Amino acid sequence: MNIHEYQGKEILRKYGVSVPNGKVAFTVDEAVEAAKELGSSVCVVKAQIHAGGRGKAGGVKVAKNLDEVRTYANEILGKTLVTHQTGPEGKEVKRLLIEEGCDIKKEYYVGLVLDRATSRVVLMASEEGGTEIEEVAAKTPEKIFKEEVDPVVGLMPYQARRIAFNINIPTELVNQAVKFMIGLYNAYIEKDCSIAEINPLVVTGDGKVMALDAKLNFDSNALYRQKDVLEYRDLEEEDPKEIEASKYDLSYVALDGNIGCMVNGAGLAMSTMDIIKYYGGEPANFLDVGGGATAEKVTEAFKIILADPNVKGIFVNIFGGIMKCDVIAAGVVEAAKQVGLQIPLVVRLEGTNVDLGKQILRESGLNLVAAESMADGAQKIVSLVK
Ligand code: ADP
Ligand code: MG
Repeated sequence: MNIHEYQGKEILRKYGVSVPNGKVAFTVDEAVEAAKELGSSVCVVKAQIHAGGRGKAGGVKVAKNLDEVRTYANEILGKTLVTHQTGPEGKEVKRLLIEEGCDIKKEYYVGLVLDRATSRVVLMASEEGGTEIEEVAAKTPEKIFKEEVDPVVGLMPYQARRIAFNINIPTELVNQAVKFMIGLYNAYIEKDCSIAEINPLVVTGDGKVMALDAKLNFDSNALYRQKDVLEYRDLEEEDPKEIEASKYDLSYVALDGNIGCMVNGAGLAMSTMDIIKYYGGEPANFLDVGGGATAEKVTEAFKIILADPNVKGIFVNIFGGIMKCDVIAAGVVEAAKQVGLQIPLVVRLEGTNVDLGKQILRESGLNLVAAESMADGAQKIVSLVK
């Protein structure tokens, strides 16, 4: 789960990570009011969307007085920002962060992620802050420094110090930077983050180390024990189809292709997407209906897939292990009838009671295509949507 920058900063503040004073605003008047209350001579008006790259897209503006705050708030609120992280359709700005302007001396990058290869949290940092870290990694990888954290002892001060020296934090500010990184690490662990990225971390003219941006992502599997984090969820930032799917315990991820996929098991769902691509098609979604899918779940899954106007055909690929193929077939038939399916449907069933399942499909009177294998099904649906 993703949260907004201002929410991330609220969390970080509690862990002793310095951030500028700021307030969230939902309207232009609230923005001006927030700037008044901050009372700083320079304010920054920042679009709050679940995506980075806002600065380049015109979503971060420095205002020198209240009139400018009003002008920029007006300009940014309601605007659809297109950044390299939003996709071409962009994201509409519905909230602003009004923040104290900061006298930046230099920008750095600091991030924490889980390295799946070593199963350890890695602290990464670079002197090249403010810019996209992916670009630094591609062009000048020697400018990125890493420290692997031992989970038993956590991030050690000497590691944070080594990073601070490597990225050339001014010597007199190294202790502040160490406190910053340890605070960030504690927040990452205690809040079950999957990413904590500060880009930029800045050193200011008056000798402070601060987080000017904050991107925190959380492990969804841990949200049951992070009630306060869950409060920060902004449903308007999420795909409505994905929200609907989560209500029925379906794992659904929207993609931009035109072949809807309904599969049980995440591994089978991944390989179904692969095989569709292998035969020249583009999957419209990832969907795992789970091991114990009922007819109701299958129907909801159909509705969610069909809510995507790009979908031109559906490929159902189910392995009946715990579930029985006849139950699934009945669910598919029921769902197709309920939603009045108009587009091509290819069904591949395998496993327990498969013959009975196939018979139900055959006798359903529905215009569906049965497939004998995954490869056969993928080829059929790809040619049907062409
Ligand atoms: P994004 O990464 O989405 O572009 P950031 O929060 O990193 O957004 O802001 C972009 C740039 O704007 C920063 O690199 C920094 O130079 C400037 N900036 C952001 N917040 C402030 C602030 N409070 N004071 C001064 N400059 C800021
Ligand atoms: Mg940034």
